[in-house]
Amino acid sequence: MSYDGPTSLYIGGEWTDGAAEDTIESVDPATGETYATVPAATAADVDSAVEAAAAAVARGSEWRSIDPRERAAILHDFTDALESMRDDVTLTESRDNGKTLFEAKLEFGMVTDTFRYFAGWADKIEGSQIPVPGDRVDYTLREPVGVTAHIAPWNYPFQLSGRSLAPALAAGNSVVLKPSAQTPLSALYYAEAAEQAGLPDGVLNVVPGRGSTVGDPLVTHDDVDHVAFTGSTEIGKRVGGNAGENVADVTLELGGKGPQIVFPDADLEAATQGVHYGIFMNCGQMCWAGSRLLAHEAIHDDLVEMVVESAESIPLGSGIDDDGRMGPMVSESQREEVLEYIETGKAEGATVAAGGGIPADKDAGYFIEPTILTDVTNDMTIAREEIFGPVLSVIEVSDEQKALEVANDSPYGLMACVWTSDLERAHEFARDLEYGMVNVNETPNTFPQTPFGGVKESGVGREQGKYAIEEYTRVRNVNLNLE
Ligand code: NAP
Repeated sequence: MSYDGPTSLYIGGEWTDGAAEDTIESVDPATGETYATVPAATAADVDSAVEAAAAAVARGSEWRSIDPRERAAILHDFTDALESMRDDVTLTESRDNGKTLFEAKLEFGMVTDTFRYFAGWADKIEGSQIPVPGDRVDYTLREPVGVTAHIAPWNYPFQLSGRSLAPALAAGNSVVLKPSAQTPLSALYYAEAAEQAGLPDGVLNVVPGRGSTVGDPLVTHDDVDHVAFTGSTEIGKRVGGNAGENVADVTLELGGKGPQIVFPDADLEAATQGVHYGIFMNCGQMCWAGSRLLAHEAIHDDLVEMVVESAESIPLGSGIDDDGRMGPMVSESQREEVLEYIETGKAEGATVAAGGGIPADKDAGYFIEPTILTDVTNDMTIAREEIFGPVLSVIEVSDEQKALEVANDSPYGLMACVWTSDLERAHEFARDLEYGMVNVNETPNTFPQTPFGGVKESGVGREQGKYAIEEYTRVRNVNLNLE
């Protein structure tokens, strides 16, 4: 099947090949075949995109001075335009990443909900009045940060770009988006929507380029005021350091190693479904994956049996045909890495209770079996490091205290889930878990209205909700002496 979606850079309101000297290939992970190419943006293209964005948000520019109600209306038009592209975007996302069309549609719905939610914020961003001594009036203004750079990973390319674009645009910033070179295509539909909705030229720019070539130039650009990075902890630390050198604000949404804690009083059917969804959705390529199952000893064996049965029932299939419920991994190298983790787990004493390898009936593409490893202890590599694939590590725990200790004994702190019918225990865990997000009796879940982000090596700052508006605005203080 050919590809007829957008394949150019979008800078200053123009579709262009920029200064590209080579191309990025889009490979369908279900077949291993290249089906589209995109010019690989260069450092010079990043310069052009940031310059265009800076001009579009300069004082006196149309975008900065626009009536906020008009900005909201444009963002609603932008979302209408996205909605009209739903079939093309979801097909592209599925082909580029390998996820099923069903998953791509869920992702798409989250994006349009997020843009609608933040369009509503555009005319509600307020400062406050502060009581100060003497005959004075003191108040704050909230203004856009300026140029915001958005660097997205390949696991939810469309959603994780849109998640930070929406609040940044609603707050009146101009944006430069760099998608991952592994999944460069869906981000270009944002440019199509910008054209259709009449965003002023330069307000939204998209530069698909390799992180190794354009990452540093973008993050260290003098005119970039905020970097919204979503990706690995390793690159996130580098991005944070680079942004610090430049005294730019930064939001870092990084990796995770989420615990799913199941107590004997939980609804085990529901917990099984939640655990399943939390590790096998998107072929396990999720920052918020519940990749450690902390099963209380009283239900450990029953729960493992139920989760194994559930894992073994997943039909694997190509994303675009939507004939399966779990697609392939994004690339051969990602699958190799996951297979290596499984071997390391076995060498360190884990037992393979389900899966563990490449499915025998899939000779093309990068498929892998949904895998469950038992007899895991929290000091093993597979319990400490983010595997980023459909691999669940099961750790048996004896009581509440032990469960909490094991859950918190991790370098990461993104999302945790507790399964219990004891309300007091649920609240105690919600208070004591060292995680940015805690779900009770449901996982993983988040909404455009609620803050998303982690603690420890899972990141800094928050996307979504009113918290994101704070990230993408600056507070100015005004003190007026009336004496
Ligand atoms: P990654 O390798 O860190 O890449 C993320 C993005 O950074 C890509 O666009 C990459 O470009 C770019 N990049 C590479 N080098 C860079 C540099 N020097 N400066 C600036 N940007 C650079 O992560 P990934 O493998 O795509 O994604 C998986 C990771 O993301 C996992 O760790 C996952 O947990 C995390 N993640 C976190 C969240 C969250 O919300 N907390 C959500 C999803 C994923 P190229 O791809 O072109 O090299």
